[in-house]
Amino acid sequence: MTEQVRTCCVVGGGPAGMMLGLLLARQGIRVTVLEKHADFLRDFRGDTIHPSTQELIAELGWLNEFHRLPHSRMDRVTAAVGGKPVVLADFRRLKVRSPFIAFLPQWDFLDFLVSKATAYPSFQLLRRAEVTDLIIEGTAVRGVRAQTPDGPITVRADLVVGADGRHSAVRKRSALPLAASSPPMDVLWFRLSRREADRVEFFQGGKGAMVAIDRGDYWQIAYTIPAGAYAELQELGIAELRRRISVLAPALSDRVDELSDWTAVHELSVRVDRLTTWYREGLLCIGDAAHAMSPAGGVGINLAIQDAVATANILGPRLRAGTLTTGDLRRVQSRRELPVRLTQAFQVAILRDLYPKTLDTGTPPHQPWIFRAFNALPPLRYAMGRFIGLGVRPESIDPATTPTEFTPAPEA
Ligand SMILES: Cc1cc2nc3c(=O)[nH]c(=O)nc-3n(C[C@H](O)[C@H](O)[C@H](O)COP(=O)(O)OP(=O)(O)OC[C@H]3O[C@@H](n4cnc5c(N)ncnc54)[C@H](O)[C@@H]3O)c2cc1C
Repeated sequence: MTEQVRTCCVVGGGPAGMMLGLLLARQGIRVTVLEKHADFLRDFRGDTIHPSTQELIAELGWLNEFHRLPHSRMDRVTAAVGGKPVVLADFRRLKVRSPFIAFLPQWDFLDFLVSKATAYPSFQLLRRAEVTDLIIEGTAVRGVRAQTPDGPITVRADLVVGADGRHSAVRKRSALPLAASSPPMDVLWFRLSRREADRVEFFQGGKGAMVAIDRGDYWQIAYTIPAGAYAELQELGIAELRRRISVLAPALSDRVDELSDWTAVHELSVRVDRLTTWYREGLLCIGDAAHAMSPAGGVGINLAIQDAVATANILGPRLRAGTLTTGDLRRVQSRRELPVRLTQAFQVAILRDLYPKTLDTGTPPHQPWIFRAFNALPPLRYAMGRFIGLGVRPESIDPATTPTEFTPAPEA
């Protein structure tokens, strides 16, 4: 068993954990990020980098380099709901450097953050390190235990941050109280080929809902089903899934046969929940570990990153000075809880009428009032552009957290 002693130990190398690791290392804090996987090459992480996140990358001085990564841009969120087109959000009036969502595979974004973080000597990323337990002494969390291919390790730290996503092991071990969650749904995640002439809206809603993400030569499809209904759908046969996609997105009906069997389909569970208290002595949860987000609005990554920035702004100076208190952890939750509550309320409301309560698709598609309102009142789409693009209470990197003795990693 090897043991390390660090100032901060971050569990999970997703958007929240990687951004926090980077920002703390930039402040000269000895930080270790433990990530259970060997790489970021998983297909179901979400691909949206919002205007507010790009603004943060600009603050760090890396925006041009970020924009050189292969990506596509979306300056409006369009939808076909009940067979009728609607613009749900328009980012073009935002007063930011990047008034659009950049779509790039999340593994490219995370690799980008890692490449920047490793330029700081106090940063450490341990891959294939799965945290299995917390070290608790008295009432305080003092570190974590993890399994690696070379055997078990422990990392002791002044602060452990749970950024290990919606199935967080840290959350489970910490016994932090969880607020009642909204009824979950599941998502079926699969690819269909894409052609240049395709006209497919980002969001398709009717009886059920589907998102089509442009990934160049293929569409990444997310199709919603009621939680736990996958086995029932499988019994109906793959042809039934093909039929449903053809109804929601007729433009794709000529290639639904690419779904030859269920091996091409991944089932992902979705939930919206949150901890009522995000911290205890020596421990803080952020991102999905504190508040699991659904894919609605594609805002979970953005929110996770905003949590990381607030955490680095508030806790970084305390960690450097060795004066961290539980009251400081409370300040992080106080700062981030309102944005989280409002965003989760939005996620639940926007999907309420499209929420798949049963597998039945017999009723004709309809356009819920909330979508009709977007057509009737165009200014709503700019307001929604602000809400989705920047979020509530957007964070900015506190200039005071850039110590003069550390030179920022330069733009390549
Ligand atoms: C189907 C689906 C689609 C979505 N699409 C989008 C989208 O397009 N845009 C968007 O903004 N949001 C989307 N979301 C929400 C988004 O995925 C999350 O809100 C966001 O990923 C949260 O980031 P995070 O860093 O908190 O957690 P995660 O992204 O879940 O990262 C957690 C990390 O911790 C690691 N980990 C887990 N357990 C351990 C452990 N025990 N030890 C060590 N490491 C561990 C994981 O491997 C992972 O790398 C989607 C959600 C779902 C369910």
